[in-house]
Amino acid sequence: MTSDVAANIAAVRDEVARMCAHADMPENQPRLIAVSKVQPEDRVRAALEAGQRVFGENRVQEAEERWTALKADYPDVELHLIGGLQTNKAAKAVELFDCIQSVDREKLARALAAEMDKQGKKLPVYLQVNTGREDQKGGCMVEDLPALLETSKSLGLDVVGLMCIPPADDDPSLHFALMRKFARRFGLARLSMGMSGDYALAAAMGATDIRVGTAIFGARDYR
Ligand SMILES: *Cc1c(COP(=O)(O)O)cnc(C)c1O
Repeated sequence: MTSDVAANIAAVRDEVARMCAHADMPENQPRLIAVSKVQPEDRVRAALEAGQRVFGENRVQEAEERWTALKADYPDVELHLIGGLQTNKAAKAVELFDCIQSVDREKLARALAAEMDKQGKKLPVYLQVNTGREDQKGGCMVEDLPALLETSKSLGLDVVGLMCIPPADDDPSLHFALMRKFARRFGLARLSMGMSGDYALAAAMGATDIRVGTAIFGARDYR
């Protein structure tokens, strides 16, 4: 399994290059975020050995357990939080992560801004949009996005882009197109969209960050 990881990363990059060329945007080279949540450590190490340096985790505690040691071995690793964050974990999140992609409400924006001030850090953040209006998913509703962006900026947060997770049973291209429209409208440079099932499509629709777990590491064994 671990021997596959390097090959899988190469295959993902090839597929992205192929789809972007096909969409007449060969210059688009989205950042590949390897989503390492719940994956065995040997596979994560294999990715590191293959040169992968940007990783995504969805839980603060789990990320802390895994990455405190790994970051000592690979200090240039960049960690992105891509899962929902409770305000009482904002301090730990700001300490551990290099980027927070899941800012979806004013209360969280306030907590993060306060923590960053306290810790003397200014992490890039993304606003997560619940484009599919799903109850079980994080993200703000599209109509709340302008106000959340305004508030986040006024708090001094460095909002660099938008993130979304389309509903599993929808055509993702509708969601990707909407996200690109919002990013343009609000002058945000980065778009985090696309997972194992649709990363190449997302890349061809303007993603600047793709978040890929299963296609790199294999299926997650849920405990
Ligand atoms: C788990 C997860 C991913 C990766 O999903 P795969 O289908 O395994 O590639 C991407 N984004 C978020 C927010 C996730 O929670």
